[in-house]
Amino acid sequence: MTQLSLSDIVSCISGYDPHAMTVERAQAVIREFIHPIEAVEKLPIRSALSRVLAQDIVSRIDVPAHDNSAMDGYALRGEDLAEGRELRLQIIGEVHAGDRFTGQVGPGQCVRIMTGAPMPAGCDTVIPQELTVDADQSAVTVPPGRVRAGDNRRLRGEDLALGSVALPRGRILRPSDIGLLASLGVAEIPVQRRLRVAFFSTGDELRSVGEPLDPGCVYDSNRYTLYGMLTRLGCDIIDMGVVRDDPVAMEAAFRSACEHADAVITSGGVSVGAADYTKQTMTKLGDMLFWKIGMRPGRPMAFGRIASQDRGAYLFGLPGNPVAVMVSFYFFVRDALLRMSGADASPLPRLQATSLSAIRKKPGRTEYQRGILAPDSDGVWKVKLTGAQGSGILRSMSDANCIIVLDDAQGDVAAGDPVQVVLFDGLI
Ligand code: AMP
Ligand code: MG
Repeated sequence: MTQLSLSDIVSCISGYDPHAMTVERAQAVIREFIHPIEAVEKLPIRSALSRVLAQDIVSRIDVPAHDNSAMDGYALRGEDLAEGRELRLQIIGEVHAGDRFTGQVGPGQCVRIMTGAPMPAGCDTVIPQELTVDADQSAVTVPPGRVRAGDNRRLRGEDLALGSVALPRGRILRPSDIGLLASLGVAEIPVQRRLRVAFFSTGDELRSVGEPLDPGCVYDSNRYTLYGMLTRLGCDIIDMGVVRDDPVAMEAAFRSACEHADAVITSGGVSVGAADYTKQTMTKLGDMLFWKIGMRPGRPMAFGRIASQDRGAYLFGLPGNPVAVMVSFYFFVRDALLRMSGADASPLPRLQATSLSAIRKKPGRTEYQRGILAPDSDGVWKVKLTGAQGSGILRSMSDANCIIVLDDAQGDVAAGDPVQVVLFDGLI
């Protein structure tokens, strides 16, 4: 696939202004520029959980492989069921799951059958045991109106038909999917190799856990939130620590990062007026854009591709503030990394909830407020702010269970207004 340059991509955007990007435009540029990596590995089924399927999986068998019973009961011929009349059937055999009944079932006859057992030849209906009366060893009575022809029979191939696509490439494999693969008897699964993502923090004020906290310094938390988010996304990570604001150290770090990883994420040093060498070095090594995005938290962000020694990597230069890092990751980087890994990245679902908080909001930028969503006593879902929403207040992310997304056009929100939320946790 040919890699378009960033200038080719942005030249197609009418009125492109790096200092006034909307969230949607920035997302669109990233989406256009990113290509999936092409590297496949084969894994045993269990190890494929949460990995990205690299090829369509076509079923080589019918699942189930034969018509079978959905109930414990009696298999019978649907045509024997006479309207409004009781039916006394002769029991000519018994069949369990994993067995086969080889005889022929004639008019007025039935076979005792267990759930999952193949339907005997000639039978198309099962009457559950509890709907029958007067059963003994040799005969059973089917009262009128209890079953219709075809009831309680699972059809061959009704789960997966031979030759059909059981799972499409790009699927991030879930528990149900690995079960489905097992039901097809597929032992080895082609998956995309994991993305390798390198990251480091920039800022001379940063200290790493384990070091003393000098006056005026802060502990580096971004490498931990990034570690967490990347791990949850299934990436292999390369944590490069804190890189000093020194041109030599900075260039060495960027070169090493892009020689070893598919994507590089940095935090700090991309805001306007940043005295750091971060932006300078990014520009020197690659095709980069520096944006001011109409969003809060967030706003400054660098995006592009850098190269060293014939090895290249996509680069996301995130802001330094801890909440801004997380929000920028979730709303820009996450989708990009999923695409790079070949995953089918559908948009994050948004739900509507009633805001319990009044929220001040200027139109013209997208805001990502941290919220706590819970049902009220009537079961109606309500959301309130976590408290102070500063972009340095990481506690607001820890306290939250969702992000309240206030789109560009939105103005102030009054208590009782509907708002959109993106949940942190899902079922699977
Ligand atoms: P910057 O974008 O470099 O101007 O940083 C903005 C703010 O985020 C400053 O208060 C930094 O001290 C803070 N900051 C930058 N990087 C980190 C980090 N890795 N961990 C915690 N705070 C950070
Ligand atoms: Mg800084």
